[in-house]
Amino acid sequence: MERTLSIIKPDGIRKNIVGEVIRRFEAAGLRVAAAKKIMMSKDTAAGFYAVHKGKFFYDELVEFMSSGPVLVMVLEGENAIALNRKLMGATNFKEAEPGTIRADFAESIQFNVVHGSDAPDTAAFEIAYFFSASEIY
Ligand code: ATP
Ligand code: MG
Repeated sequence: MERTLSIIKPDGIRKNIVGEVIRRFEAAGLRVAAAKKIMMSKDTAAGFYAVHKGKFFYDELVEFMSSGPVLVMVLEGENAIALNRKLMGATNFKEAEPGTIRADFAESIQFNVVHGSDAPDTAAFEIAYFFSASEIY
């Protein structure tokens, strides 16, 4: 069993597709082990994406991620990190496989609906960033 952090980004919340995104996770065998809807401050978003600090898209990314509420979730299942990334599709929706969340719903490289951890170490950091152990079941 593996855990990964998923975020439905502000654009996904605005599109009202929370149920559809979670349905896809569950249909693929992932389980929602924790979930909460929050509004990230700029500082929270900046710390979360600190790995991208200095990149040309960083400031806009922080602005976007704190522009409205998000749904943060811990997904659990076999191979959860890679499986979630597969269901999400490529960062650039134009390169995302047909049938993936980003291919179906993203509008630009930036407004791409979902976030998913990309490795075990980032998953551990990201889960702890939003959830305490007693909030994950
Ligand atoms: P995420 O970390 O959100 O799951 P990712 O791992 O597929 O996405 P990253 O390279 O980590 O992609 O980029 C983080 C986020 O920054 C992207 O999801 C996107 O919202 C934004 N982003 C990445 N590259 C660009 C770009 N070239 N132009 C604008 N925004 C970008
Ligand atoms: Mg990433």
